[in-house]
Amino acid sequence: MDRAKDIALLNSWIDGAKIISTVSHARPDGDAAGSSAAMASYLESCRGKDTAVLLPDPVPENAAFVLEGLKTITDAQESARRMDGTDLLICLDFNTLSRVEGLEEAVRAFKGRKVLIDHHEEPDREAFDLCISETRVSSACELLYQVLLGMPDIAGDPSKLPQAAARALMTGMTTDTNNFANSVWPATLQMASGLLAAGVDREDIIDRLYHCERPNRLAAMGEMLSERMRLLPEGGSVIILPQSFFDRHGLLDGETEGFVNLPLSIKGVRLCVLAREDGDKFRVSIRSKRGTSARLLAKNHFHGGGHEQASGGRILIPQDIADAAGAEAYVIEITARFLQEQDAV
Ligand code: 5GP
Ligand code: MN
Repeated sequence: MDRAKDIALLNSWIDGAKIISTVSHARPDGDAAGSSAAMASYLESCRGKDTAVLLPDPVPENAAFVLEGLKTITDAQESARRMDGTDLLICLDFNTLSRVEGLEEAVRAFKGRKVLIDHHEEPDREAFDLCISETRVSSACELLYQVLLGMPDIAGDPSKLPQAAARALMTGMTTDTNNFANSVWPATLQMASGLLAAGVDREDIIDRLYHCERPNRLAAMGEMLSERMRLLPEGGSVIILPQSFFDRHGLLDGETEGFVNLPLSIKGVRLCVLAREDGDKFRVSIRSKRGTSARLLAKNHFHGGGHEQASGGRILIPQDIADAAGAEAYVIEITARFLQEQDAV
């Protein structure tokens, strides 16, 4: 794996392409939106390409500012049409094609070259013509920052990045590190430093990301903490959010982002599992402190995976539980057993 060679190859493929699209994962987070926006903005401003950002779902409102001024498509049919005319597809912030959900079929059918730039474990290398994968970074944005600095026109100088790209990279890195709380590497701070020196307004980003919540999100958080959070003697926390919870508080998709981290601020809690009802299943988010593997719990018990300290998966009805009412007992049992087994080894 030679990074410089990979970047040179990507550079030549960009040169040879007229129409380029990016694609990222379902329910895009700040890193998915930020890396897509940064790539698109670079391709448009520095390389003069016809570029579009394709996403399986809309971006949460607080992170949508990074996509301002870029052609963004969240409709599956329109995305498929765009892919038909695309020469080069750049895939960001996911490791397997199943993670693009509604766009999976179209991405699989895509005839041109597919490039992956991602920071998750075990990327499906077979699915891409070029795979730039590194797990020892904070975010896809950090890896993309390194890739863009390696391009001949940027030549290691962050001030040559379009301002919109620089801002988008800082945004995605900030959300994936939970504002520098986790997965911060030496190079992460170098990136932050380089982008700040290049003129990125970090306070504006923080304001947009974290200081624009609706009051009902805080009301929901209050109810969750006082009524729905279960603490297990093994050092785990379990939170089940039924559909009625979302309806009662009028929550939008994405407004529970970050809730799963809250129990970890309690002394002795090393793992939190949050499951939210979503149609005929529950979507599961898991966060852990160092030494406890969120990834293994997701992989072994929730049909998912992810990073060591941040992972996700699902609970299927009726395969895993007979009905939604059984979710809490199910998750508590699995989580308690998982922590006991961890302690035993
Ligand atoms: P979140 O809790 O924010 O939805 O997901 C946290 C992390 O877990 C994501 O960054 C992603 O890497 C991973 N993840 C979430 N769901 C899945 C899944 O179904 N499969 C895999 N392999 N990883 C997932
Ligand atoms: Mn990411």
